[in-house]
Amino acid sequence: MNDMTIRENIKVVEKVIASACKEAGRDTQEVTLIAVSKTKPIEMLQEAYEYGCRDFGENKVQELLDKYEILPKDIRWHMIGHLQRNKVKYIVDKVYLIHSVDSLRLAEEISKEAGKKNVCVRILVEVNVANEETKFGTTCEEVKQLVQDIAKLPNIRVKGLMTIAPFVENAEENRPIFSKLRKISVDIMKENIDNIDMEILSMGMTGDYGVAILEGATYVRVGTGIFGVRQYMP
Ligand SMILES: *Cc1c(COP(=O)(O)O)cnc(C)c1O
Repeated sequence: MNDMTIRENIKVVEKVIASACKEAGRDTQEVTLIAVSKTKPIEMLQEAYEYGCRDFGENKVQELLDKYEILPKDIRWHMIGHLQRNKVKYIVDKVYLIHSVDSLRLAEEISKEAGKKNVCVRILVEVNVANEETKFGTTCEEVKQLVQDIAKLPNIRVKGLMTIAPFVENAEENRPIFSKLRKISVDIMKENIDNIDMEILSMGMTGDYGVAILEGATYVRVGTGIFGVRQYMP
């Protein structure tokens, strides 16, 4: 894929975002596009950066760190992949938002390492709404308690919820998943828990971000739709 294509792809994604916002009666400013750049080379991220992207998503700590070192410092790095506790210390002061917190133990580790570096880390709680066995995330039943427990920890702040919807042929099939996550977020907001807010809903990927926006997404995470299909090294 050449550079021109990346620009064109982002323009297409922006058009879809704009029309979904229009349909939902929402302001486009409410939705932020995260360019999911995992497995992709620096040059491709640079092209997206030059076009105007400032939010990038990665799912591996080492890869995020490598790219962080090289690319401009005004990028907001989003950790969207499963995070191991022993790697938390490397990223707490480098990421803008961790989307994938799904246990109190992980949150405690983030809180501890953030304290050492004297930062406050913004996080989302990942919910496995569809209850897929292959996916990480807490359950719909446990998420409220988890948010309440994390809220008591220092140097960490819950900003909202994230989900990875199943892979489906027709994006509409995921609509109930997205609406359920939003409903959970509204329920938690009503609890008025100190030290948390529910302003972020991170949901929707290349196959279904339009529908996610109709259901209230504030961050959409688009990889393939911008950078093309990923090739994983064996
Ligand atoms: C890879 C990934 C994405 C992007 O997926 P695409 O289908 O390529 O848009 C979004 N969210 C998470 C958590 C991912 O791991």
